[in-house]
Amino acid sequence: MKNYDFLIVGGGIVGLTVALEIARRHMGSVAVLEKEATLGMHASGRNSGVIHAGIYYTPGSLKARLCVSGARRLWDYAEEKKLPHSRIGKVIVTTREEQLPVLEDLLTRAKANDVRVEMVDEKGLSTIEPHARTVGNALYSPDTAVIDPKSVLTALADDIVALGGTIVFCAKVRRVCAEKRLVTTHRDVFQYGHLVNAAGLEADRLAHQMGVGLRYRILPFKGAYKKVSPDSPAQFRGLVYPVPDPELPFLGVHITKNVYGEVFLGPTATPALGRENYEGFSKIDFCRLPANFWYLGYMFVTNRNGFFNLVRSEIAKYSARGFFDEVRKLSPAIRPQDILACDKVGIRAQPFDCSAGRLVMDFLVEKGPSSTHILNAVSPAFTSSLALAEHIVSGITG
Ligand SMILES: Cc1cc2nc3c(=O)[nH]c(=O)nc-3n(C[C@H](O)[C@H](O)[C@H](O)COP(=O)(O)OP(=O)(O)OC[C@H]3O[C@@H](n4cnc5c(N)ncnc54)[C@H](O)[C@@H]3O)c2cc1C
Repeated sequence: MKNYDFLIVGGGIVGLTVALEIARRHMGSVAVLEKEATLGMHASGRNSGVIHAGIYYTPGSLKARLCVSGARRLWDYAEEKKLPHSRIGKVIVTTREEQLPVLEDLLTRAKANDVRVEMVDEKGLSTIEPHARTVGNALYSPDTAVIDPKSVLTALADDIVALGGTIVFCAKVRRVCAEKRLVTTHRDVFQYGHLVNAAGLEADRLAHQMGVGLRYRILPFKGAYKKVSPDSPAQFRGLVYPVPDPELPFLGVHITKNVYGEVFLGPTATPALGRENYEGFSKIDFCRLPANFWYLGYMFVTNRNGFFNLVRSEIAKYSARGFFDEVRKLSPAIRPQDILACDKVGIRAQPFDCSAGRLVMDFLVEKGPSSTHILNAVSPAFTSSLALAEHIVSGITG
């Protein structure tokens, strides 16, 4: 039996940054158990790679605080480690006049969160992002940046090992015995002093085994992307986002340019048939599907989190024509032939609060017996990760 003071389940960005924080503070021995053979097989390696500035989030919320400080720390980490990253900026554009008050609200939020933004008119937008379109005004965020997410995971793993930590691959945690503080994988048994559950899409299942967070259930939402042809006349300097629905944790289909200059459209936000249902009918979760559809149906009927509008817009995006119409609202320069199929897809681990009947919007960390459970680490958790890890580890020691 292997014994560690701290056992982290999940080697995504959250698990790795928590392990690094523990190792940096010299709190004791630390190991990360990762079920896959390599890093970045799930959300942390399949995201848009955007270092969000912190515009959207309710002032005072964990997301607002940790995104702003996390973005700065992630930028500094990328500089220090010489990882591919670039501060290319972003514009948030409106597609209808009725969205202008929401844009004003975003400006107020950004200022309250201490984020640098500027309201520009259509002429101003054309100088910043010539191929973007807005109706009236747009919000410009010069500090939004992009990074290569997998390079961050690799650098973190190297740092953990250099500080004496351990990363165990192909170690899927099957059972946790909270009383004896034992974790069983298919190969080994581990004893722990404190367990950190950072299992992403599986975090609720693990927590429930330990009697924690029973009111939360993760609903998987698929985010599929398309690519813009490099031959398209539509060229972008930075990122172009629509005004989001403030009730939803999703930002809508946007235009992102990665650190290598590739331009992507997406992600969508459609309910997935399983937690790892990345392709077609693979890995359908037949056991969970009926309950998941029940919760989704409930949100649709009661229009919780503006879910009715989400369903309507997602259905429209399902057809090539609908997707194109959505993208054209952001940039009239994109032509149908510029939109290429692409296999990039990620799945968001979005918790649903069964007691409140709503999606959980803020980061959620719950304590259990000798354990800490990260039950909501959706976007911008990648951006926030270094600050989120500090918050989580301070919660363990405090
Ligand atoms: C499409 C999409 C786009 C996004 N874009 C952005 C963005 O631009 N900027 C941003 O800041 N955020 C973005 N996000 C959010 C961000 O990617 C996630 O919030 C973050 O990656 C979550 O990290 P995690 O470590 O919690 O989860 P994961 O990356 O899913 O890591 C969890 C790990 O746990 C492992 N695991 C699960 N169960 C077990 C088990 N039983 N035993 C052992 N290991 C286990 C999994 O294999 C996995 O590696 C995006 C997310 C998606 C899906």
